[in-house]
Amino acid sequence: MLSHNVSLLPYTTFGVNTMAQDFFQASTAQEMINFLTEYKDPYIVLGGGSNILFVCEKVKCVVQMCNTNIMLKEENDEQVLLEVGAGVEWDDLVLFAVDRGYYGLENLSAIPGKVGASPVQNIGAYGVEVSACISSLEYIDRESLQIHVIEAKECDFSYRNSVFKHKLKDKAIITKVLFRLRKNGEIQVAYGTVHQEYLERRIINMEKSCNKSDIQLIRESIISIRASKLPDPKVLGNVGSYFKNPIVSLKQANAIQKLFPLAPIFPCAGEDMRKISAAWLIEQVGMKGYRMARVGVHNKQALVIVNNGGASAGEILALENLIILNVQSKFGVRLEAEVNKY
Ligand code: FAD
Ligand code: NAP
Repeated sequence: MLSHNVSLLPYTTFGVNTMAQDFFQASTAQEMINFLTEYKDPYIVLGGGSNILFVCEKVKCVVQMCNTNIMLKEENDEQVLLEVGAGVEWDDLVLFAVDRGYYGLENLSAIPGKVGASPVQNIGAYGVEVSACISSLEYIDRESLQIHVIEAKECDFSYRNSVFKHKLKDKAIITKVLFRLRKNGEIQVAYGTVHQEYLERRIINMEKSCNKSDIQLIRESIISIRASKLPDPKVLGNVGSYFKNPIVSLKQANAIQKLFPLAPIFPCAGEDMRKISAAWLIEQVGMKGYRMARVGVHNKQALVIVNNGGASAGEILALENLIILNVQSKFGVRLEAEVNKY
């Protein structure tokens, strides 16, 4: 369906108004291909708009995949293969899996956005990354308008990163994702307060003879932890973590640890690299809860920039720059935005 002069406010979570001259929503990959065969102007691919900042007041065209099928493609005693349309709400898929006892996605509960965007930044939370469950995916090559299938191992998945953020950046429209989920998995509770929350729920579950599965309890725990810390975009515009957690050399991490023994520094891929909590860095420069015009740093999670109402992209970018400058001057670490800007 093609619409004109559409406000993207209801299609994005930051609360910044941008108009799309043309807005095309496709129910199938073929519909998208047919549209793009005729359409010659530049366009932006939109999912649920929860990781996007439109920096201009007007864009030429936005396209969105709206296919919402979840199909069981294969099943055996150990695992299932689900084929999921790009337009499915991410959390609907998690709920679908958890309700059927399929392990793997439960720690990724309550992440906004659509399935089609989940491989783009290899969404992750509470020690789990979606790449662990992706088997392959299908995309439209934006140049040739041909459908390609790419195996997970070819997607270059890494920490909040994938081939769709570099080699295939703005070159692919993901139309389907195939997920391999286990029927008898292990829960992952090593991260933060997840274990504690899970145990409390398990006790209540037993006391009330509720029979909830362990992954249902994990899902409930994570939804509750997230609700206590993260602003609901329906109430306060935001895109989740505005910055990535910086990955620094072991030498730089040690230097920071020496000055700040309590600095939250974590191992990451690569023995001589470390991940530092960006939220902690922002807190240390005194900006947690900071307000500037109509934007601010969330008072419960410093990694989240919030729109206190009616903010422009310019105000958000000004705050981004100030945060980067302050963190760089105090720690010599340059924060990088995670949000996708267009
Ligand atoms: P969009 O914001 O619409 O798009 C994001 C990028 O993907 C853009 O570059 C867009 O062009 C591209 N894209 C979208 N769909 C497609 C497609 N079909 N094909 C090709 N490219 C596409 N992220 C996490 O990783 N972990 C979290 O725990 C997390 N928590 C969040 C909490 C809150 C409150 C919010 C607001 C955001 C959070 N996020 C988190 C960020 C965000 O939800 C994810 O990155 C999500 O995957 C974005 O999905 P989306 O559909 O909204 O994508
Ligand atoms: P948190 O638990 O307060 O932790 C702060 C930071 O420390 C996180 O960024 C996390 O890195 C890191 N961390 C904590 N415990 C860790 C461990 N055991 N091993 C490795 N790293 C650890 O974080 P939070 O803000 O409440 O978020 C909870 C989870 O949801 C995190 O995984 C976070 O990434 C995810 N989340 C992501 C977004 C987004 O938009 N990208 C938004 C909200 C929440 P990691 O971020 O690498 O996990």
